[in-house]
Amino acid sequence: MTTAQYRRIVLKLSGEALSGDQGYGIEPQVIQSIAAQVREVAELGVEVAVVVGGGNIWRGKVGSEMGMDRATADYMGMLATIMNSLALQDSLEKGGIPTRVQTSIEMRQVAEPYIRRKAIRHLEKKRVVIFAAGTGNPYFSTDTTAALRAAEIEAEVILMAKNNVDGVYSDDPKMNKEAEKYTEISYMQMLNKGLGVMDSTASSLCMDNDIKLIVFSIMEKGNIKRVVQGEPIGTMIRGNK
Ligand code: UDP
Repeated sequence: MTTAQYRRIVLKLSGEALSGDQGYGIEPQVIQSIAAQVREVAELGVEVAVVVGGGNIWRGKVGSEMGMDRATADYMGMLATIMNSLALQDSLEKGGIPTRVQTSIEMRQVAEPYIRRKAIRHLEKKRVVIFAAGTGNPYFSTDTTAALRAAEIEAEVILMAKNNVDGVYSDDPKMNKEAEKYTEISYMQMLNKGLGVMDSTASSLCMDNDIKLIVFSIMEKGNIKRVVQGEPIGTMIRGNK
């Protein structure tokens, strides 16, 4: 059996990944399938932290485009990530994986507040840690949260699980049949080519702190484990070459 290539990872799940075909809300079967995939990785002995988005419920930018105050709309987005995180925790624990949710906005009746050293301790004890409520600050994204938390907990890699694409392409593969899939690309190339993998704040954080990013599809069962075992199924983004 191939062993895991990483000791500690951050898995970034967009809100959409939890919504299945509907594109909104939470689809329990989809969450169960993701939880089963996370379990496979945890059982390899890999320490798993998860950052969950909220776009399946609410995005701050959409609210602000409808005339809402941007910061207020962003706080609503952060609250959406907490709902998703609790749903994922429920599925993981039903599958026998001890899980802690830590929120960047205090909500002590619901989850622990984010405390870096405590999060590391949970990981060392092989508990899955879900980081909810983004960075706790408006005007940021959960991609930036993944980069920030990965740097803080010294994760070796961010696994960016996608439900609509299986890697990074030179162009939108749905619109352009000639679009080429990259196996590996640098952050600098990604930024220069304007590839919309993650926002610039998140990519700068990854680049400056030398954090690898792997973009792959979560739609195929077992893919998280494949990536963790080093199979080149998606696109690896790294350093500055
Ligand atoms: N958000 C925020 N600060 C953060 C993280 C998230 O304000 O640090 C808000 C923002 O409004 C965002 C929403 O939460 O639109 C949901 O997060 P995101 O869009 O990153 O979710 P995803 O696209 O991954 O589902």
